[in-house]
Amino acid sequence: MIEKFYTYPLQRHNTFGFEVNARCLIKAYSTQDVLQLRNDKDFVGGTRLVMGGGSNLLFTSDFDGCILQPLLQNISPESDAGTTARLRVGAGVAWDELVEYCVERGWHGLENLSLIPGTVGACPVQNIGAYGAEAKDVIEGVEYVDLESFEVSYLSNEQCRFGYRTSIFKQELRGKAAITQVVFGLSRQPRYNTSYDSLSEMVKQLGGESLRNVRQAVVATRRGKLPNPAELGNAGSFFKNPFVEASLAEELQKKHPAMPSFPSGSGVKIPAGWLIEQCGLKGARRGSVGVHPKQALVLVNYGGGTGSEVLALAREICQAVHSRFGVTLELEVNVV
Ligand SMILES: Cc1cc2nc3c(=O)[nH]c(=O)nc-3n(C[C@H](O)[C@H](O)[C@H](O)COP(=O)(O)OP(=O)(O)OC[C@H]3O[C@@H](n4cnc5c(N)ncnc54)[C@H](O)[C@@H]3O)c2cc1C
Repeated sequence: MIEKFYTYPLQRHNTFGFEVNARCLIKAYSTQDVLQLRNDKDFVGGTRLVMGGGSNLLFTSDFDGCILQPLLQNISPESDAGTTARLRVGAGVAWDELVEYCVERGWHGLENLSLIPGTVGACPVQNIGAYGAEAKDVIEGVEYVDLESFEVSYLSNEQCRFGYRTSIFKQELRGKAAITQVVFGLSRQPRYNTSYDSLSEMVKQLGGESLRNVRQAVVATRRGKLPNPAELGNAGSFFKNPFVEASLAEELQKKHPAMPSFPSGSGVKIPAGWLIEQCGLKGARRGSVGVHPKQALVLVNYGGGTGSEVLALAREICQAVHSRFGVTLELEVNVV
């Protein structure tokens, strides 16, 4: 049975903590619930948005439409034999709860993605990633309700067209799909990836490689680096790290020998945080919003700020980076 609310306050449903309302919010607890929305006058025909935990959304005003929250709560193992475990997980499960569930059972693949806020249903949308791992490495497929035909569809990993912080759900199917289930294939054989950052040193200090220790090291590192949205409104990395052509990277490297750069495929990835910091904007404050003083990639709401203010700051940052480096920054956060 769906639950429906009008003039619904979203302050606790977006990690920036903006005080905005949705004209209508619908909570769906099953695929059937989502399918029945084909007859719902508030949902069909009007402006709509599918929302998880609101940790990657920037509301610039009240939402004059209908928000759907798929809250399916199942974690259903489909097989656990041989070297792999396969599970089907409802869109409404908290991402970190799933990571803990897998670590507890000795299933490898999600531990580096510990403590990422949000829901399982959102994980394929931008192919969440951290510490050298991405959701695409473990997603077998995604089930969703097509919000035009109101039919249930399934896309395999390949069909999801995952890329760096993107997928078909952020491109062709943007706004057209309500993800209901994600199917994961996890490994029962140890395969640790602690090459990123100071992870391997921390894991050593915790007593060596184990799923529990990797999770603990990732959690501790993240807590030390990123502001907790419960204390300071933010949506994690606001910008993607840009990929630039090798020739531009070479040119920039000559001018800025200290610039960190990571060759990847035919291009070079440059940390957006470094570019922003070089423009003198780390810690910049504009009224109630600003750039985090320790993490230039994270824009924050100090309290009472608005999405429009954050967006104006983001534009200022993009312009500054472009005029200094000729590099175009792309937003990672979804502007509503
Ligand atoms: C402190 C902090 C740290 C973060 N660190 C990371 C990180 O390390 N790596 C990373 O990749 N991200 C990170 N994020 C971003 C965020 O946690 C992820 O993008 C997460 O997957 C968003 O989940 P959500 O449920 O909150 O989605 P929402 O913010 O509600 O939605 C995000 C997008 O997904 C869509 N969506 C959500 N649910 C569904 C669904 N069921 N069906 C269809 N579309 C849907 C929405 O329409 C929207 O476009 C961080 C955020 C914060 C606040």
